[in-house]
Formats: sequence, structure tokens, C-alpha cells
Amino acid sequence: MICIPIISQTNDEALRDIRRSAPAADAIELRMDVIEGGDLPMLVAEAGKASPNVKIIVTCRRPEESLLPSVRTLRDVNKGRTLPAKLLLLEQAVALGVDFVDIEMACGEEAVHRLRSSIRRQKSLTKIIVSWHDIDKTPSFAKLKTIFHACLRVGADLIKIVPYARHREDNLKVLALFAYAKKWNCPLIAMCMGDEGRMSRVLAISLGSVLTFAVLQSGGASAPGQLTVGAMKEFHRLLESDVREYRPEMTIPARPDFVLLGNPVGHSLSPLMHNQALQAMGIEGHYSACCVEDLRAAITGIRGLKMGGASVTIPFKTAVMEFLDDMDDDAAALGAVNTIVNDRGRLTGFNTDWLGLVQAVKDRMEIAGKTFAVLGAGGTARAAVYGLQKEGGRVFLLNRTLEKGQALAGRFGCLFYPLSKIDEIYADCLINTTSVGLYPENEKSPVPASLLNHFEVVADVIYNPLMTRLLRDAEAKGCKIISGLDMFVYQGAGQIQLWTGREAPVALLRETVRERLNQLES
Ligand code: NAP
Repeated sequence: MICIPIISQTNDEALRDIRRSAPAADAIELRMDVIEGGDLPMLVAEAGKASPNVKIIVTCRRPEESLLPSVRTLRDVNKGRTLPAKLLLLEQAVALGVDFVDIEMACGEEAVHRLRSSIRRQKSLTKIIVSWHDIDKTPSFAKLKTIFHACLRVGADLIKIVPYARHREDNLKVLALFAYAKKWNCPLIAMCMGDEGRMSRVLAISLGSVLTFAVLQSGGASAPGQLTVGAMKEFHRLLESDVREYRPEMTIPARPDFVLLGNPVGHSLSPLMHNQALQAMGIEGHYSACCVEDLRAAITGIRGLKMGGASVTIPFKTAVMEFLDDMDDDAAALGAVNTIVNDRGRLTGFNTDWLGLVQAVKDRMEIAGKTFAVLGAGGTARAAVYGLQKEGGRVFLLNRTLEKGQALAGRFGCLFYPLSKIDEIYADCLINTTSVGLYPENEKSPVPASLLNHFEVVADVIYNPLMTRLLRDAEAKGCKIISGLDMFVYQGAGQIQLWTGREAPVALLRETVRERLNQLES
């Protein structure tokens, strides 16, 4: 498990950080000793809302064992958060049904017993982590074993031992505890704080640690040496794939890893969506985004690394074609590839953008025999025109730049109008494929609201924001609307189908992406 500590300074900031962190992590740790005026029931409820499966750890760290400067709650709000006050807080956490409460070994056996009684009384499933930290140094291995036993004696369900590494060798002492803990059949969380202790944070999970701590973005660490969630996942992926490589008795299947090739890719929600799909489908594999400088080298990498395939985005959808072995008919006709499938070294290009758009439209209306006004003449317009015509729709194209619009309309044999003539156009459905209204220009729309009653259905391919100005205006005019989220999810589901031969959990993916977009908008 990867756990993100919530170390915000106020309750409001903590709520915001929970919303961001919970979907990205397996667990979050609410550091109630740091969150000024932290409202535990509210924070726990927010975590459940943000991610129903995220595990919650509640901690109220003793100042002597914390490296965080602000522990004001210990000074004022919970004046005298002496042991009884701290126990009351942890008992409240038990009553709220959190997964873990963390109490320091230094609080003593009686405190742990009191928590245990509370768990029994509440018939709660909460587990007790008994923890020990040294914020200054790492003691000898013999001393660490003594500490382990002391934690065990006070009644831990899980033991957590985290000293400060002054030297790299300190990691070895702490990591050796995992083999020792196995003999005593007690789950362990162990790692070193400090920059010199980083390697223990990465290796701990591979050696059996119940969890390791990571931060969403660099700069948010609760203890020095914490890596980002992304870096931690990447390390584990590498460690895991190495393990597989070195099993000589196994025939090694190509690991189904996938990559997004584009430039830029930092904003992309594809990794979130595809990793969620792989996980939900029980497929071991990982999808990562790669900002590509050299496309030829990137394609060589897909073959060399025996990846399952790739997504391709701006600006490579056309350029990539020359590096592939084969092209699916639709991708060839469209002249753009957004998906690569690697079949034992043979790379074939596909396009699921048009499929995504067609599927999103088909959810709301028939396409055959209906009229469509498509705004724009870029790559997405091309996919839209191709897909709609393939399904029997009649398309008018409108674009700001006449030459580009005429060229595209000429290629697909559809009527073309300058965008300025939109007031003369009536159709069953209007589809915006321009970037007008894209975040941060949320208040812009490519079509005046007064003209939207010329259309029964209005679709926007933009999904950030989820409700563009165009869609809001259209809804207010009583039109049916189709959001870019549907197209995005369906084109991703099409990719999954091509890579795995299986159907993707579309509803789950839609919710996952919608949740993230809502978070980004809040
Ligand atoms: P593109 O190739 O760069 O084309 C952009 C189009 O927008 C061009 O036709 C351009 O017109 C038009 N445009 C830009 N600014 C305009 C303005 N101020 N007024 C009028 N027209 C304007 O981009 P693309 O790859 O097609 O992507 C377009 C949009 O689709 C992006 O917002 C992208 O995020 C979205 N998209 C969504 C999905 C999805 O799955 N939902 C998939 C792909 C793309 P000119 O020809 O006059 O320059």
C-alpha cells in the first residue's frame, strides 16, 4: 500500500488535500497533531467520499517523535492533549470505523489496552499500529529488535518502526527487521526517515512492509526522504518486472505495459483512466505517460521493452504512421493513429477517436440519416466527420480558417461553410471540435447561445471543464447535450479492447475521470 500523509495546517486545507490524495493512494494518514482544528468526523467522511476504498490511518503523533514543526493542536486547541485527550481522539477514530489508529509504543501498555477495549466495545475492525520513531538516528539492529518486541508486548496488530538514517548503511539495519518480523508473525511497517533513508522507503514494500509513505507532489512530505506517489509506483514497477525477468524456469510473456506518446502529456488523464481499467480488469500491467522528443526512438522502445502497446496524442497522430508495420483500414482512411498494438514485435496502428465520438453520439441519438454541423477542421474534426459519415450521418463542416475547412470538407466530400455563417445552419446535432471553451477559457463558446435552438442535440469534445459554456447554454435552451467526457472514455475503452481483447469497465472509467475533473475544477 502507498499511503499519503495529510499534514495540512487547517481543516479546510486538509479537506482539499484529502480530495486530491485519496484517489491517488491506497491509504491516507490523517495527522491530527498537525491539522489545526481538525474535525475528525468531517475528514473521515471526506476521505470516504473522495475514494470509497482508501484506507484511513488516524495518528496524533507525540512531538518527541515528529519532525513536523507545527504541532499547535498539541499546544492550544486540544490544550493538554495529554494521553487521555489523545486517547479520546483515537477512540473517536475507532467509533468512526477507520482502518487503523496509530499510537506510539511510548504511550504504554495501558493506553493500547484501552484502545483495544474500545475496539471490542464498538465491534470495530480498526487495527492498532504501535509505532516507534527516532528523529535523530538509527540504533543498532539489536536495539531495533528490542524495540520490535516492546511494540509486540503492548499489543500491536501492526508494528511501525521508523528511525532517522544518518548513513546509507542504516537502511540495512531497518530492512533486516522484515525477515525478523516474519518469525513473530507480526505485520511490520519499517523504513528510515531522512534523505539517506530513501532506499528503505522504496524497498520496504518489496520486503513485506504493509505500507510505505509517499507524497502527491514533491514538497508535501511529513518526513524527509518521502518520494512522490508516481516515483514510488515507477520504482515498484521496475522492481517487479526485474523479479519476473530473473525467473529462469518461466516462459516470460510480454508484460502488458502501455505508454502514452505525446508532447506535452503532463495534463493527460489517460494514465488515471487506463490504470484504473487494468486494475479493475485484474490485468497486471501499467500505463504511463511519456513526453516524447524523439518519436523514432520511442517506437523502438515499445518494441525493445516488449510493451503491449501505446496511445498516441498531439502532435504525433500522423507522424507516427511511418514507423509502424501495418495500419488498420479506418486509421489509414482517417490518416491518423491514436492507438498502437504490439503483437510480438509487429506494430499496428488503429484509431479509436472516431469510435469514441460515434459511441458517445449513439448513446443519445441515431446517426444514420441525421444532419450534423461539425465545428473545426483539426484532427478531432477529421475523426468526427469520418465516423459520422461511416455511420450514415450527413455532415456540414464549419471552420474559422477557410482553406483548412475547405481542404477537409473536400477530402470527405461534405459541405463547407465559414464559421461566421453559423447563424444560417440548422441540423439535428451540433458538434464542437474546436478548442474554444477549453480550460482556462471556460466562459468562451464557439456559438452564440441565441442560435442553439437550431439544434436538437449539442455535443462538445472538450472535457475540461466538464460542462463547457456551450453545453451550459445548450442545456438552458432545452437541447440534449453530450459531454467530451463520454468521447474520451469511449476512445480509451476502445484502446483497452484492442490491447486486451476484453471490454473495459466503461461506467467505472467514466466515474473515475469525472471525479478527477471535478476535483480539478473545485
Ligand atoms: P487542432 O487540430 O489544433 O484543431 C483545432 C481547431 O479549433 C481548428 O479547426 C481551429 O480552427 C479551431 N479553433 C481554435 N481556436 C479557435 C477560435 N478561437 N475560434 C474558432 N475556431 C478555433 O485540435 P484537435 O486535436 O482537433 O483538438 C480540438 C479539441 O478537441 C481540443 O480541445 C481537445 O482537447 C479536444 N479533444 C477531445 C477528445 C476527447 O476524447 N474528448 C479527443 C481529442 C481532442 P482554425 O483551423 O481556424 O485554426
